[in-house]
Order: sequence, then C-alpha cells, then structure tokens
Amino acid sequence: MKLMLHVAPGIVRQPLIASVILETNALVNIERASIDAVSGEIVLEVPVEKSQEVMDAFERRGVKVVPLENPVIRDENECVHCGGCVSICPTGTFRFEDWRVVADSGKCIQCGACIVACPQRALNLVTK
Ligand code: SF4
Ligand code: SF4
Repeated sequence: MKLMLHVAPGIVRQPLIASVILETNALVNIERASIDAVSGEIVLEVPVEKSQEVMDAFERRGVKVVPLENPVIRDENECVHCGGCVSICPTGTFRFEDWRVVADSGKCIQCGACIVACPQRALNLVTK
C-alpha cells in the first residue's frame, strides 16, 4: 500500500527512511519524493503486512503518515472521458474501458499532473 509522509522542518535532514527500513526490515519503494532543506513530502510503497509497523516507526520519529487509500477523486458529473488523464498519469492510474475512463486509484502517487491536465476540472486530490 502507499503511504504519504509529511516531514517537518526540524527532522528533514535525518536519515528517516534508512532508519525505518533497518528497524522494520520492510522492503519499501520510494515512488515520489519532494524534499528540500526545510521540509519533505514522500510517497512510499510498503508491503501491506508491514504497513502498520512502518507507519508506527515513522510516527515515532515525528513524521506525519497518511495512507493513500483514495488519493484522487473524480467528479463523475464533470468527466467527459476525454482521456487527458490517461495520457498524462505517470503511474497508469487511468485507463479506457469500453470508451470510458476508469481509475485504479491504488496506483496514484498524488503527483497532481492529472489535476492540472483535466479540461473539466473534474479531478481533485484527497488530503487528510
Ligand atoms: S481528463 Fe478529466 S474529463 Fe478527461 S477523462 Fe480525465 S477526468 Fe475525465
Ligand atoms: S495525481 Fe493524477 S497523474 Fe498523478 S499519479 Fe495520481 S492519478 Fe496519476
């Protein structure tokens, strides 16, 4: 499953991911990272059976963790199934099925590209 990590300024320079991997032995994959000198936003793919352990380990280090259960929502009344989101999404979240666009939101890493690309403004990111 995917976890969004929000790293605060005071801890952004610590080796958080490395220490959590060493502690939990979880095979995590960094799917997106936006980090600078003052804060960070990271999306990790974590094995489901390790997800709670990994979340607890990050939270003990002061990282805010949000599971990306439903990362992107679509207004079905606004969507015209043009396919703009299909072509721009880097993770293949959207696809055509019988000429309609369907989503597998488990693939979304909340990069925001589809939000900007949608001509109907039908898409929004879910933030908790
Ligand atoms: S880009 Fe917007 S309107 Fe087009 S298929 Fe995607 S959600 Fe629907
Ligand atoms: S935010 Fe949109 S473009 Fe980015 S990964 Fe999620 S569905 Fe794909």
